[in-house]
Amino acid sequence: MSRTPAYAAASATAPLAPFVLDRRAPGPRDVQIEILYCGVCHSDIHQVRDEWGGSIFPMVPGHEIVGRVSAVGGEVTRYAPGDVVGVGCFVDSCRTCPQCRAGLEQYCDEGMTGTYNARERGTGIPTQGGYSTRIVVDQDYVLRIPDGLPLDRAAPLLCAGITTWSPLRHFDTRPGDQVAVVGLGGLGHMAVKLAAAMGAQVTVLSTTEAKRDDALALGAHAFAATRDGSAFKALRGRFDLILDTVSAPHDYNAYLGLLKVDGTMVLLGLPDPAPVSAFPLVSRRRKLAGSMIGGIAETQEMLDFCAAHGIASDIELIDIAQVNDAYERMLRNDVRYRFVIDCATLRGAGPDVGA
Ligand code: NAP
Ligand code: ZN
Ligand code: ZN
Repeated sequence: MSRTPAYAAASATAPLAPFVLDRRAPGPRDVQIEILYCGVCHSDIHQVRDEWGGSIFPMVPGHEIVGRVSAVGGEVTRYAPGDVVGVGCFVDSCRTCPQCRAGLEQYCDEGMTGTYNARERGTGIPTQGGYSTRIVVDQDYVLRIPDGLPLDRAAPLLCAGITTWSPLRHFDTRPGDQVAVVGLGGLGHMAVKLAAAMGAQVTVLSTTEAKRDDALALGAHAFAATRDGSAFKALRGRFDLILDTVSAPHDYNAYLGLLKVDGTMVLLGLPDPAPVSAFPLVSRRRKLAGSMIGGIAETQEMLDFCAAHGIASDIELIDIAQVNDAYERMLRNDVRYRFVIDCATLRGAGPDVGA
């Protein structure tokens, strides 16, 4: 066990506050990682505030983790002390179901084990995430951060990056395809960068005009503000693929009308509830899909692609003490485009535990 400084929420209504958690000693297949940076995902807010139900408290959020290996178990072959590695949204799965065998561990029949707000397989001990200084993870669920990626700007790739990469690849995005990205936040800005790098014609659909210049600078070819509704007429039937990254309830049916015949809208954002009407789907043989993060192998593929193409997240680096304010700013759509915690500020932020 190692006593590890962290920030945790004690309940759905409590702000995040200093906390000490016990990390297990590395087992034979485990990698012990000293966390350098952790991104702040909107899913952290949903879960800390128990918006999906069933949250486990106290909760240390964080699933966009980059750090350095400090120890490995005796059977670990893939990593060595000193390696720079990442951990994303899950740390275990059954390994034997069809999805696990196919590298789609996030869709494991027994449920993936979330990096936090889940229970370890076998022991039932709650998992705790990256708003901390150390984590211990089975080597099969650890990613390698390729040389050349700035480490703070790489952290959001572990969730925002893979969550947008996976549907772009799965739905076979080709050069020249018309792709819309709805919501320019953490996921949205990665969707723009990745879709543009794949050669797609990218349009950002944002609530207001405020992010127009940023969208174009990120690589979008077009931009439309949605609040006054005129974009829904002007862009009707335009897109092959829509990636919806919006974190708050909104009208899916209006966006479905922007798809071509046979076009697909992929829900990535997780607001609840959201009624869907049959007419916009039936009338143009459109498809409504969902997609959750990505498997380990495709996450590594995405990281390697980002390193090869010079792609990383646009971030605002914060001290851990700013994290509650960062949540409030995300809820006001005031993030350009991912907050990343400098986890060095946790060492000494909480009680002195000599970890
Ligand atoms: P974020 O950085 O807070 O961005 C969300 C964006 O949604 C905002 O920047 C805003 O963009 C837009 N938005 C917010 N409220 C809106 C409203 N009422 N109507 C229209 N647009 C609105 O959040 P994120 O970290 O990217 O996460 C986005 C969502 O994806 C969350 O629900 C999160 O839980 C979910 N998520 C899903 C997966 C998955 O595997 N599927 C993985 C990670 C996260 P504009 O300012 O441009 O309008
Ligand atoms: Zn996330
Ligand atoms: Zn499985």
